[in-house]
Amino acid sequence: MTVLGQMMQQPLLISSLLVHAERHHGEQEIVSRRVEGDIHRQTFRDLAARSRKMANALAKLGIQSGDRVATLAWNGYRHMELYYAVSGSGAVLHTLNPRLHPDQLVYIADHAEDSAIFFDLTFLPLIEAIASRVKTIKTFVAMTDRAHMPKESKVPGLLCYDELLGAENDTFTWPSFDENSASSLCYTSGTTGNPKGVLYSHRSTVLHTYAAALPDALDCSARDTILPVVPMFHVNAWGLPYVACMVGAKLVFPGPGLDGKSLYELFEAEKVTLSAGVPTVWQGLLSYVEANKLKFSTMNRSVIGGSACPPAMIRAFNEQYGVQVLHAWGMTEMSPLGTACTFKAKHLAQTQEERYAVMAKQGRAIYGVDMKIVDVAGAELPWDGEASGELLVRGPWIMSRYFKDEGGDPLVYADGDGWFPTGDVCKIDADGYMQITDRSKDVIKSGGEWIGSIDIENIAMANPKVAMAACISAAHPKWDERPLLVVVRKPGAELTRDEMLAFFEGKIAKWWTPDDVVFVDAIPIGATGKMLKNRLREQFKDYKLPTA
Ligand code: ADP
Repeated sequence: MTVLGQMMQQPLLISSLLVHAERHHGEQEIVSRRVEGDIHRQTFRDLAARSRKMANALAKLGIQSGDRVATLAWNGYRHMELYYAVSGSGAVLHTLNPRLHPDQLVYIADHAEDSAIFFDLTFLPLIEAIASRVKTIKTFVAMTDRAHMPKESKVPGLLCYDELLGAENDTFTWPSFDENSASSLCYTSGTTGNPKGVLYSHRSTVLHTYAAALPDALDCSARDTILPVVPMFHVNAWGLPYVACMVGAKLVFPGPGLDGKSLYELFEAEKVTLSAGVPTVWQGLLSYVEANKLKFSTMNRSVIGGSACPPAMIRAFNEQYGVQVLHAWGMTEMSPLGTACTFKAKHLAQTQEERYAVMAKQGRAIYGVDMKIVDVAGAELPWDGEASGELLVRGPWIMSRYFKDEGGDPLVYADGDGWFPTGDVCKIDADGYMQITDRSKDVIKSGGEWIGSIDIENIAMANPKVAMAACISAAHPKWDERPLLVVVRKPGAELTRDEMLAFFEGKIAKWWTPDDVVFVDAIPIGATGKMLKNRLREQFKDYKLPTA
Protein backbone atom coordinates (compact mmCIF):
# COMPACT_ATOMS: atom_id res chain seq x y z
CA MET A 1 0.00 0.00 0.00
CA THR A 2 1.26 3.48 -0.83
CA VAL A 3 1.93 5.58 2.24
CA LEU A 4 1.75 9.31 1.57
CA GLY A 5 4.35 11.64 2.99
CA GLN A 6 3.11 14.16 5.51
CA MET A 7 4.69 17.36 4.33
CA MET A 8 2.94 20.67 3.72
CA GLN A 9 1.35 21.20 0.34
CA GLN A 10 2.59 24.60 -0.66
CA PRO A 11 2.24 25.54 -4.29
CA LEU A 12 5.47 26.74 -5.96
CA LEU A 13 4.53 30.31 -6.87
CA ILE A 14 6.64 33.12 -8.32
CA SER A 15 5.35 35.57 -5.68
CA SER A 16 7.07 33.47 -3.01
CA LEU A 17 10.45 34.43 -4.48
CA LEU A 18 9.64 38.08 -3.96
CA VAL A 19 8.35 37.54 -0.43
CA HIS A 20 11.56 35.68 0.39
CA ALA A 21 13.76 38.41 -1.13
CA GLU A 22 12.00 41.16 0.81
CA ARG A 23 12.20 39.33 4.12
CA HIS A 24 15.74 38.01 3.88
CA HIS A 25 17.51 40.38 1.52
CA GLY A 26 15.46 43.57 1.89
CA GLU A 27 18.53 45.83 1.80
CA GLN A 28 19.98 44.24 -1.31
CA GLU A 29 20.20 46.65 -4.25
CA ILE A 30 18.79 46.76 -7.75
CA VAL A 31 20.65 49.29 -9.89
CA SER A 32 19.31 50.29 -13.30
CA ARG A 33 20.53 52.45 -16.13
CA ARG A 34 17.29 54.08 -17.14
CA VAL A 35 15.98 54.95 -20.57
CA GLU A 36 15.59 58.46 -19.11
CA GLY A 37 19.42 58.57 -19.01
CA ASP A 38 20.30 58.36 -15.30
CA ILE A 39 21.23 55.59 -12.86
CA HIS A 40 18.41 54.51 -10.57
CA ARG A 41 18.77 52.62 -7.29
CA GLN A 42 16.26 50.73 -5.21
CA THR A 43 16.28 47.81 -2.80
CA PHE A 44 14.48 44.49 -2.88
CA ARG A 45 12.21 45.99 -0.21
CA ASP A 46 11.28 48.78 -2.65
CA LEU A 47 10.80 46.21 -5.40
CA ALA A 48 8.37 44.23 -3.25
CA ALA A 49 6.37 47.31 -2.20
CA ARG A 50 6.19 48.70 -5.74
CA SER A 51 5.20 45.28 -7.15
CA ARG A 52 2.31 45.15 -4.66
CA LYS A 53 1.24 48.65 -5.71
CA MET A 54 1.39 47.57 -9.34
CA ALA A 55 -0.70 44.49 -8.53
CA ASN A 56 -3.35 46.84 -7.13
CA ALA A 57 -3.11 49.00 -10.23
CA LEU A 58 -3.47 45.98 -12.52
CA ALA A 59 -6.65 44.96 -10.72
CA LYS A 60 -8.05 48.49 -11.21
CA LEU A 61 -7.20 48.28 -14.91
CA GLY A 62 -9.41 45.20 -15.03
CA ILE A 63 -6.60 42.68 -15.54
CA GLN A 64 -7.83 39.31 -14.39
CA SER A 65 -6.25 35.99 -13.65
CA GLY A 66 -5.01 34.37 -16.88
CA ASP A 67 -5.06 37.65 -18.88
CA ARG A 68 -1.97 38.31 -20.93
CA VAL A 69 -0.07 41.51 -20.13
CA ALA A 70 2.61 42.41 -22.65
CA THR A 71 5.89 44.25 -22.10
CA LEU A 72 8.16 45.87 -24.65
CA ALA A 73 11.06 46.86 -22.46
CA TRP A 74 14.78 46.72 -21.71
CA ASN A 75 16.27 45.23 -18.57
CA GLY A 76 15.30 47.59 -15.76
CA TYR A 77 13.62 47.82 -12.36
CA ARG A 78 10.15 48.62 -13.72
CA HIS A 79 10.31 45.55 -15.95
CA MET A 80 11.33 43.51 -12.89
CA GLU A 81 8.33 44.90 -10.96
CA LEU A 82 6.05 43.72 -13.76
CA TYR A 83 7.67 40.26 -13.67
CA TYR A 84 6.39 39.91 -10.12
CA ALA A 85 3.22 42.04 -10.18
CA VAL A 86 1.75 40.40 -13.28
CA SER A 87 2.64 36.76 -12.61
CA GLY A 88 2.22 37.11 -8.85
CA SER A 89 -1.35 38.32 -9.22
CA GLY A 90 -2.24 35.38 -11.47
CA ALA A 91 -2.04 37.08 -14.87
CA VAL A 92 0.45 36.07 -17.58
CA LEU A 93 3.49 38.21 -18.36
CA HIS A 94 4.06 38.25 -22.10
CA THR A 95 7.51 39.62 -22.94
CA LEU A 96 7.67 40.94 -26.51
CA ASN A 97 10.94 41.22 -28.39
CA PRO A 98 11.29 44.82 -29.64
CA ARG A 99 13.81 43.77 -32.28
CA LEU A 100 11.08 41.96 -34.22
CA HIS A 101 9.46 43.51 -37.26
CA PRO A 102 6.25 45.47 -36.40
CA ASP A 103 4.18 43.03 -38.50
CA GLN A 104 5.50 40.17 -36.39
CA LEU A 105 4.78 42.06 -33.18
CA VAL A 106 1.18 42.63 -34.28
CA TYR A 107 0.86 38.96 -35.18
CA ILE A 108 2.23 37.85 -31.79
CA ALA A 109 0.17 40.32 -29.70
CA ASP A 110 -3.01 39.27 -31.53
CA HIS A 111 -2.17 35.59 -31.25
CA ALA A 112 -1.54 35.96 -27.52
CA GLU A 113 -4.66 38.14 -27.15
CA ASP A 114 -2.75 40.59 -24.96
CA SER A 115 -5.04 42.93 -23.07
CA ALA A 116 -2.50 45.55 -21.99
CA ILE A 117 1.01 46.60 -22.96
CA PHE A 118 3.72 48.29 -20.87
CA PHE A 119 6.62 49.81 -22.78
CA ASP A 120 9.85 51.77 -22.37
CA LEU A 121 9.95 55.22 -23.99
CA THR A 122 12.50 53.99 -26.53
CA PHE A 123 9.71 52.00 -28.10
CA LEU A 124 7.09 54.76 -28.32
CA PRO A 125 7.46 55.02 -32.14
CA LEU A 126 7.02 51.25 -32.40
CA ILE A 127 3.92 51.37 -30.18
CA GLU A 128 2.52 54.25 -32.26
CA ALA A 129 3.05 52.14 -35.38
CA ILE A 130 1.15 49.14 -34.02
CA ALA A 131 -1.41 50.68 -31.61
CA SER A 132 -4.21 50.95 -34.17
CA ARG A 133 -3.43 47.54 -35.65
CA VAL A 134 -3.48 45.28 -32.57
CA LYS A 135 -6.90 43.77 -31.96
CA THR A 136 -7.09 43.10 -28.22
CA ILE A 137 -4.81 45.59 -26.45
CA LYS A 138 -6.93 48.25 -24.74
CA THR A 139 -4.44 49.61 -22.21
CA PHE A 140 -1.14 51.30 -23.09
CA VAL A 141 1.28 52.25 -20.31
CA ALA A 142 4.56 54.14 -20.77
CA MET A 143 7.12 52.90 -18.22
CA THR A 144 8.25 56.30 -17.01
CA ASP A 145 7.37 59.19 -14.69
CA ARG A 146 5.10 62.17 -15.40
CA ALA A 147 8.01 64.49 -16.23
CA HIS A 148 9.18 62.22 -19.05
CA MET A 149 5.77 61.43 -20.53
CA PRO A 150 5.52 62.33 -24.21
CA LYS A 151 3.85 65.73 -24.65
CA GLU A 152 1.66 64.44 -27.39
CA SER A 153 1.22 60.94 -28.68
CA LYS A 154 -0.90 59.02 -31.12
CA VAL A 155 -1.42 56.25 -28.58
CA PRO A 156 -5.03 56.22 -27.33
CA GLY A 157 -5.44 56.90 -23.58
CA LEU A 158 -1.72 56.59 -22.86
CA LEU A 159 -1.08 55.98 -19.14
CA CYS A 160 2.00 56.77 -17.03
CA TYR A 161 3.59 53.91 -15.06
CA ASP A 162 4.81 55.89 -12.05
CA GLU A 163 1.47 57.67 -11.80
CA LEU A 164 -0.43 54.39 -11.80
CA LEU A 165 1.85 53.16 -9.01
CA GLY A 166 1.70 56.40 -7.09
CA ALA A 167 -2.07 56.20 -6.82
CA GLU A 168 -1.97 52.84 -5.00
CA ASN A 169 -0.99 51.71 -1.52
CA ASP A 170 1.38 48.83 -1.03
CA THR A 171 -1.00 46.54 0.82
CA PHE A 172 -1.70 43.53 -1.33
CA THR A 173 -1.79 39.85 -0.44
CA TRP A 174 -0.40 37.66 -3.18
CA PRO A 175 -3.10 35.13 -4.06
CA SER A 176 -2.49 31.41 -3.73
CA PHE A 177 -3.46 29.19 -6.66
CA ASP A 178 -2.53 26.03 -8.53
CA GLU A 179 1.23 26.00 -9.17
CA ASN A 180 0.54 24.71 -12.67
CA SER A 181 -1.14 28.01 -13.61
CA ALA A 182 0.46 29.91 -16.48
CA SER A 183 2.92 32.59 -15.37
CA SER A 184 4.59 33.95 -18.48
CA LEU A 185 4.70 33.64 -22.22
CA CYS A 186 7.60 33.98 -24.64
CA TYR A 187 7.51 33.44 -28.40
CA THR A 188 10.34 31.73 -30.26
CA SER A 189 12.01 34.00 -32.77
CA GLY A 190 10.47 32.08 -35.65
CA THR A 191 13.51 31.57 -37.85
CA THR A 192 11.20 29.28 -39.83
CA GLY A 193 7.45 29.96 -40.11
CA ASN A 194 5.41 32.03 -37.69
CA PRO A 195 6.63 32.53 -34.12
CA LYS A 196 5.19 30.09 -31.62
CA GLY A 197 4.42 30.78 -27.96
CA VAL A 198 5.89 28.91 -25.01
CA LEU A 199 3.70 29.21 -21.92
CA TYR A 200 5.63 28.74 -18.66
CA SER A 201 3.97 27.86 -15.36
CA HIS A 202 4.70 28.97 -11.80
CA ARG A 203 5.88 25.46 -10.99
CA SER A 204 8.19 25.19 -14.01
CA THR A 205 9.62 28.64 -13.27
CA VAL A 206 10.34 28.02 -9.60
CA LEU A 207 11.90 24.61 -10.29
CA HIS A 208 14.01 26.14 -13.05
CA THR A 209 15.10 28.87 -10.64
CA TYR A 210 16.35 26.34 -8.07
CA ALA A 211 18.27 24.53 -10.78
CA ALA A 212 19.67 27.64 -12.46
CA ALA A 213 21.18 28.94 -9.22
CA LEU A 214 23.21 25.78 -8.54
CA PRO A 215 27.02 25.95 -8.45
CA ASP A 216 27.26 23.71 -11.51
CA ALA A 217 24.67 25.77 -13.38
CA LEU A 218 24.76 29.60 -13.26
CA ASP A 219 26.47 29.53 -9.86
CA CYS A 220 24.68 32.42 -8.11
CA SER A 221 24.74 33.42 -4.45
CA ALA A 222 24.00 36.29 -2.05
CA ARG A 223 27.62 37.40 -2.53
CA ASP A 224 27.16 38.03 -6.23
CA THR A 225 26.37 41.14 -8.20
CA ILE A 226 24.69 39.97 -11.38
CA LEU A 227 24.35 41.99 -14.56
CA PRO A 228 22.10 40.18 -17.04
CA VAL A 229 22.94 41.43 -20.53
CA VAL A 230 20.62 38.77 -21.90
CA PRO A 231 17.33 40.63 -22.29
CA MET A 232 14.32 40.21 -20.05
CA PHE A 233 12.31 40.03 -23.29
CA HIS A 234 14.01 36.80 -24.27
CA VAL A 235 13.28 33.69 -22.16
CA ASN A 236 13.10 35.71 -18.94
CA ALA A 237 16.75 36.76 -19.13
CA TRP A 238 17.67 33.07 -18.67
CA GLY A 239 15.84 33.12 -15.33
CA LEU A 240 18.17 35.60 -13.61
CA PRO A 241 15.42 37.98 -12.35
CA TYR A 242 14.01 35.01 -10.41
CA VAL A 243 17.38 33.63 -9.33
CA ALA A 244 18.42 37.00 -7.88
CA CYS A 245 15.39 36.99 -5.58
CA MET A 246 15.90 33.36 -4.58
CA VAL A 247 19.54 33.82 -3.58
CA GLY A 248 19.54 37.53 -2.68
CA ALA A 249 22.10 38.66 -5.25
CA LYS A 250 22.50 42.32 -6.16
CA LEU A 251 21.13 43.05 -9.63
CA VAL A 252 22.43 45.55 -12.16
CA PHE A 253 20.25 46.30 -15.20
CA PRO A 254 21.93 47.90 -18.23
CA GLY A 255 18.75 49.33 -19.83
CA PRO A 256 19.37 50.29 -23.44
CA GLY A 257 23.18 50.64 -22.98
CA LEU A 258 24.46 47.40 -24.50
CA ASP A 259 27.60 48.74 -26.21
CA GLY A 260 31.03 47.77 -24.86
CA LYS A 261 31.71 51.13 -23.19
CA SER A 262 28.38 51.41 -21.33
CA LEU A 263 28.57 47.82 -20.14
CA TYR A 264 32.18 48.09 -19.02
CA GLU A 265 31.45 51.25 -17.01
CA LEU A 266 28.57 49.54 -15.20
CA PHE A 267 30.64 46.40 -14.52
CA GLU A 268 33.27 48.51 -12.80
CA ALA A 269 31.07 51.09 -11.04
CA GLU A 270 28.74 48.48 -9.53
CA LYS A 271 31.39 45.78 -8.90
CA VAL A 272 29.65 43.15 -11.01
CA THR A 273 30.88 39.59 -10.39
CA LEU A 274 28.75 37.63 -12.85
CA SER A 275 27.21 38.47 -16.18
CA ALA A 276 25.34 36.58 -18.89
CA GLY A 277 24.80 37.04 -22.61
CA VAL A 278 25.20 35.77 -26.16
CA PRO A 279 28.65 35.65 -27.86
CA THR A 280 27.93 38.63 -30.15
CA VAL A 281 27.51 40.92 -27.11
CA TRP A 282 30.78 39.75 -25.56
CA GLN A 283 32.52 40.37 -28.86
CA GLY A 284 31.61 44.07 -28.57
CA LEU A 285 32.67 44.22 -24.94
CA LEU A 286 35.99 42.44 -25.51
CA SER A 287 36.94 44.68 -28.44
CA TYR A 288 36.23 47.76 -26.33
CA VAL A 289 38.23 46.46 -23.38
CA GLU A 290 41.09 45.35 -25.63
CA ALA A 291 41.23 48.62 -27.59
CA ASN A 292 41.35 50.66 -24.36
CA LYS A 293 43.74 48.31 -22.52
CA LEU A 294 41.30 47.83 -19.62
CA LYS A 295 40.86 45.01 -17.09
CA PHE A 296 37.86 43.77 -15.12
CA SER A 297 38.47 44.36 -11.44
CA THR A 298 35.53 42.35 -10.02
CA MET A 299 33.91 40.28 -12.77
CA ASN A 300 35.07 36.68 -12.47
CA ARG A 301 32.43 34.63 -14.31
CA SER A 302 30.49 35.15 -17.49
CA VAL A 303 27.70 32.89 -18.68
CA ILE A 304 27.77 32.56 -22.46
CA GLY A 305 25.10 30.77 -24.46
CA GLY A 306 22.42 31.20 -27.08
CA SER A 307 24.92 30.22 -29.75
CA ALA A 308 28.21 28.36 -29.53
CA CYS A 309 30.87 30.29 -27.65
CA PRO A 310 34.01 30.30 -29.84
CA PRO A 311 36.94 28.67 -27.96
CA ALA A 312 39.04 31.76 -28.81
CA MET A 313 36.64 33.83 -26.67
CA ILE A 314 36.85 31.38 -23.76
CA ARG A 315 40.64 31.68 -23.90
CA ALA A 316 40.66 35.47 -24.18
CA PHE A 317 38.37 35.85 -21.16
CA ASN A 318 40.42 33.43 -19.12
CA GLU A 319 43.98 34.37 -20.06
CA GLN A 320 43.71 38.11 -20.56
CA TYR A 321 41.04 39.02 -18.04
CA GLY A 322 40.88 36.19 -15.47
CA VAL A 323 37.18 35.64 -16.21
CA GLN A 324 35.87 32.08 -16.17
CA VAL A 325 33.43 31.37 -19.01
CA LEU A 326 30.41 29.26 -18.09
CA HIS A 327 29.28 27.88 -21.41
CA ALA A 328 25.58 27.04 -21.27
CA TRP A 329 22.95 25.73 -23.66
CA GLY A 330 19.21 26.01 -23.69
CA MET A 331 16.13 26.97 -25.65
CA THR A 332 13.02 29.11 -25.26
CA GLU A 333 11.12 25.81 -25.08
CA MET A 334 13.27 24.83 -22.06
CA SER A 335 12.86 27.92 -19.83
CA PRO A 336 15.76 27.97 -21.13
CA LEU A 337 18.48 26.04 -19.25
CA GLY A 338 19.45 22.54 -20.34
CA THR A 339 23.19 22.12 -19.85
CA ALA A 340 26.05 24.05 -18.35
CA CYS A 341 29.74 23.41 -18.73
CA THR A 342 31.51 23.15 -15.40
CA PHE A 343 34.30 20.76 -14.44
CA LYS A 344 34.14 17.47 -12.63
CA ALA A 345 36.80 16.82 -9.98
CA LYS A 346 38.91 14.80 -12.39
CA HIS A 347 39.32 17.76 -14.75
CA LEU A 348 41.10 19.75 -12.08
CA ALA A 349 44.15 17.51 -12.47
CA GLN A 350 44.22 18.00 -16.25
CA THR A 351 46.33 20.41 -18.25
CA GLN A 352 44.91 23.80 -19.19
CA GLU A 353 44.72 22.70 -22.85
CA GLU A 354 42.67 19.63 -21.93
CA ARG A 355 40.39 21.80 -19.87
CA TYR A 356 39.88 24.23 -22.74
CA ALA A 357 38.67 21.27 -24.81
CA VAL A 358 36.06 20.55 -22.11
CA MET A 359 35.00 24.20 -21.87
CA ALA A 360 34.25 24.39 -25.59
CA LYS A 361 31.45 21.87 -25.05
CA GLN A 362 27.94 22.97 -24.09
CA GLY A 363 28.20 20.95 -20.90
CA ARG A 364 26.40 18.49 -18.66
CA ALA A 365 22.65 18.21 -18.14
CA ILE A 366 21.42 20.02 -15.05
CA TYR A 367 19.33 17.82 -12.77
CA GLY A 368 15.76 18.14 -14.03
CA VAL A 369 16.77 17.82 -17.67
CA ASP A 370 16.95 14.34 -19.12
CA MET A 371 18.58 14.02 -22.53
CA LYS A 372 19.52 11.52 -25.20
CA ILE A 373 20.70 11.50 -28.80
CA VAL A 374 19.04 9.53 -31.58
CA ASP A 375 19.78 8.70 -35.22
CA VAL A 376 17.41 9.52 -38.09
CA ALA A 377 15.44 6.34 -37.42
CA GLY A 378 14.99 7.36 -33.77
CA ALA A 379 17.37 4.73 -32.33
CA GLU A 380 19.31 5.88 -29.28
CA LEU A 381 23.04 6.53 -29.89
CA PRO A 382 25.91 5.81 -27.48
CA TRP A 383 27.59 8.48 -25.34
CA ASP A 384 31.07 7.94 -26.76
CA GLY A 385 31.94 11.44 -27.94
CA GLU A 386 31.84 10.18 -31.54
CA ALA A 387 28.28 9.29 -32.51
CA SER A 388 26.27 12.34 -33.43
CA GLY A 389 22.52 12.65 -33.70
CA GLU A 390 19.53 14.78 -32.76
CA LEU A 391 19.20 15.77 -29.13
CA LEU A 392 15.92 14.94 -27.36
CA VAL A 393 15.05 16.30 -23.93
CA ARG A 394 12.37 16.02 -21.26
CA GLY A 395 11.80 17.45 -17.83
CA PRO A 396 9.51 19.61 -15.66
CA TRP A 397 10.57 22.94 -17.23
CA ILE A 398 10.47 21.71 -20.81
CA MET A 399 7.47 22.59 -22.95
CA SER A 400 4.96 19.89 -23.84
CA ARG A 401 3.01 21.88 -26.48
CA TYR A 402 3.12 25.35 -28.02
CA PHE A 403 0.57 27.95 -26.92
CA LYS A 404 -2.85 27.29 -28.48
CA ASP A 405 -1.46 23.99 -29.79
CA GLU A 406 0.20 25.78 -32.67
CA GLY A 407 1.94 23.25 -34.91
CA GLY A 408 0.24 20.24 -33.25
CA ASP A 409 2.01 17.83 -30.93
CA PRO A 410 5.74 18.63 -31.15
CA LEU A 411 6.92 15.67 -29.08
CA VAL A 412 8.44 12.46 -30.35
CA TYR A 413 7.53 9.31 -28.52
CA ALA A 414 10.26 6.88 -27.59
CA ASP A 415 10.01 4.15 -24.93
CA GLY A 416 6.44 5.27 -24.33
CA ASP A 417 7.56 8.74 -23.19
CA GLY A 418 7.23 12.09 -24.87
CA TRP A 419 10.54 13.84 -25.65
CA PHE A 420 11.03 17.32 -27.05
CA PRO A 421 13.14 17.27 -30.24
CA THR A 422 15.57 20.18 -29.94
CA GLY A 423 16.62 20.38 -33.60
CA ASP A 424 20.22 20.44 -32.38
CA VAL A 425 22.71 17.89 -33.68
CA CYS A 426 25.27 16.87 -31.10
CA LYS A 427 27.57 14.30 -29.52
CA ILE A 428 27.71 13.33 -25.87
CA ASP A 429 30.92 11.99 -24.31
CA ALA A 430 31.26 9.27 -21.70
CA ASP A 431 31.28 11.89 -18.90
CA GLY A 432 27.93 13.24 -20.14
CA TYR A 433 29.28 16.44 -21.73
CA MET A 434 27.18 17.42 -24.71
CA GLN A 435 28.69 19.22 -27.69
CA ILE A 436 26.57 20.74 -30.43
CA THR A 437 27.90 20.38 -33.95
CA ASP A 438 25.01 22.19 -35.57
CA ARG A 439 21.35 23.03 -35.71
CA SER A 440 19.75 20.46 -37.98
CA LYS A 441 18.69 23.18 -40.42
CA ASP A 442 22.23 24.61 -40.63
CA VAL A 443 24.07 21.32 -41.08
CA ILE A 444 26.01 21.01 -44.38
CA LYS A 445 25.31 17.77 -46.24
CA SER A 446 28.33 16.96 -48.35
CA GLY A 447 28.15 13.71 -50.35
CA GLY A 448 25.73 12.16 -47.83
CA GLU A 449 27.98 13.06 -44.87
CA TRP A 450 27.33 15.86 -42.42
CA ILE A 451 29.72 18.73 -41.82
CA GLY A 452 29.15 20.69 -38.62
CA SER A 453 29.38 24.42 -39.29
CA ILE A 454 30.12 25.33 -35.65
CA ASP A 455 33.53 23.57 -35.66
CA ILE A 456 34.51 25.48 -38.79
CA GLU A 457 33.36 28.81 -37.38
CA ASN A 458 35.21 28.18 -34.13
CA ILE A 459 38.48 27.68 -36.02
CA ALA A 460 37.93 30.76 -38.18
CA MET A 461 37.18 32.83 -35.07
CA ALA A 462 40.53 31.82 -33.59
CA ASN A 463 42.25 33.80 -36.36
CA PRO A 464 43.16 37.16 -34.82
CA LYS A 465 42.17 38.99 -38.01
CA VAL A 466 38.60 37.66 -37.95
CA ALA A 467 35.81 39.61 -36.25
CA MET A 468 32.97 37.24 -37.13
CA ALA A 469 32.56 34.11 -39.23
CA ALA A 470 29.62 32.05 -40.44
CA CYS A 471 29.84 28.81 -42.34
CA ILE A 472 26.93 27.98 -44.62
CA SER A 473 26.17 25.42 -47.27
CA ALA A 474 26.57 26.35 -50.93
CA ALA A 475 25.19 24.23 -53.76
CA HIS A 476 27.66 21.87 -55.42
CA PRO A 477 26.95 19.71 -58.51
CA LYS A 478 28.89 16.70 -57.26
CA TRP A 479 28.58 16.84 -53.47
CA ASP A 480 25.14 18.52 -53.21
CA GLU A 481 26.45 20.96 -50.64
CA ARG A 482 29.87 22.24 -49.67
CA PRO A 483 30.89 24.67 -46.92
CA LEU A 484 31.27 28.34 -47.79
CA LEU A 485 32.87 30.57 -45.17
CA VAL A 486 31.55 34.12 -44.79
CA VAL A 487 33.97 36.36 -42.90
CA VAL A 488 33.96 39.86 -41.42
CA ARG A 489 37.53 41.08 -40.97
CA LYS A 490 38.60 43.02 -37.87
CA PRO A 491 38.84 46.76 -38.59
CA GLY A 492 42.07 47.49 -40.44
CA ALA A 493 43.05 43.82 -40.74
CA GLU A 494 44.28 42.46 -44.05
CA LEU A 495 43.33 38.87 -44.65
CA THR A 496 43.13 37.09 -48.01
CA ARG A 497 41.05 34.09 -49.01
CA ASP A 498 44.14 31.89 -49.31
CA GLU A 499 45.49 32.94 -45.91
CA MET A 500 42.12 32.14 -44.37
CA LEU A 501 41.98 28.71 -46.00
CA ALA A 502 45.59 27.94 -45.01
CA PHE A 503 44.58 28.66 -41.40
CA PHE A 504 42.47 25.48 -41.43
CA GLU A 505 45.41 23.22 -42.32
CA GLY A 506 46.06 20.60 -39.68
CA LYS A 507 43.11 21.80 -37.59
CA ILE A 508 40.34 19.94 -39.37
CA ALA A 509 39.77 17.06 -41.81
CA LYS A 510 40.61 18.20 -45.36
CA TRP A 511 37.12 17.52 -46.67
CA TRP A 512 35.64 19.73 -43.92
CA THR A 513 37.71 22.72 -45.07
CA PRO A 514 35.50 25.34 -46.76
CA ASP A 515 35.61 25.39 -50.56
CA ASP A 516 35.70 29.17 -50.60
CA VAL A 517 35.78 32.30 -48.48
CA VAL A 518 33.83 35.51 -49.06
CA PHE A 519 34.45 38.71 -47.15
CA VAL A 520 31.51 40.89 -46.15
CA ASP A 521 31.11 44.09 -44.10
CA ALA A 522 28.59 42.55 -41.72
CA ILE A 523 26.77 39.30 -41.00
CA PRO A 524 23.04 39.76 -40.33
CA ILE A 525 22.15 39.31 -36.65
CA GLY A 526 18.65 38.29 -35.52
CA ALA A 527 16.42 39.53 -32.74
CA THR A 528 18.13 37.39 -30.12
CA GLY A 529 21.71 38.22 -31.13
CA LYS A 530 22.36 35.17 -33.29
CA MET A 531 23.79 35.08 -36.79
CA LEU A 532 20.96 34.69 -39.31
CA LYS A 533 22.37 31.89 -41.40
CA ASN A 534 19.11 31.40 -43.31
CA ARG A 535 19.45 35.03 -44.49
CA LEU A 536 23.06 34.34 -45.55
CA ARG A 537 22.06 31.18 -47.40
CA GLU A 538 19.44 33.23 -49.24
CA GLN A 539 22.03 35.92 -50.04
CA PHE A 540 24.48 33.35 -51.42
CA LYS A 541 22.00 30.96 -52.98
CA ASP A 542 23.38 31.51 -56.50
CA TYR A 543 27.01 31.56 -55.37
CA LYS A 544 29.29 29.60 -57.70
CA LEU A 545 31.96 27.75 -55.75
CA PRO A 546 35.33 27.60 -57.55
CA THR A 547 35.21 23.80 -57.07
CA ALA A 548 31.80 23.48 -58.76
P1 ADP B 1 15.52 30.60 -31.33
O1 ADP B 1 15.25 29.15 -31.56
O2 ADP B 1 14.35 31.44 -31.46
O3 ADP B 1 16.80 31.11 -31.92
P2 ADP B 1 16.37 30.10 -28.67
O4 ADP B 1 17.06 31.18 -27.97
O5 ADP B 1 15.34 29.35 -27.99
O6 ADP B 1 15.72 30.83 -29.81
O7 ADP B 1 17.42 29.20 -29.38
C1 ADP B 1 17.71 27.92 -28.98
C2 ADP B 1 18.80 27.38 -29.85
O8 ADP B 1 19.98 28.17 -29.75
C3 ADP B 1 19.24 26.00 -29.49
O9 ADP B 1 18.37 25.02 -29.99
C4 ADP B 1 20.63 25.94 -30.11
O10 ADP B 1 20.57 25.66 -31.49
C5 ADP B 1 21.13 27.34 -29.95
N1 ADP B 1 22.01 27.44 -28.79
C6 ADP B 1 21.70 27.86 -27.55
N2 ADP B 1 22.79 27.82 -26.74
C7 ADP B 1 23.81 27.34 -27.49
C8 ADP B 1 25.18 27.05 -27.24
N3 ADP B 1 25.76 27.26 -26.06
N4 ADP B 1 25.91 26.55 -28.25
C9 ADP B 1 25.36 26.33 -29.48
N5 ADP B 1 24.09 26.60 -29.77
C10 ADP B 1 23.31 27.09 -28.80
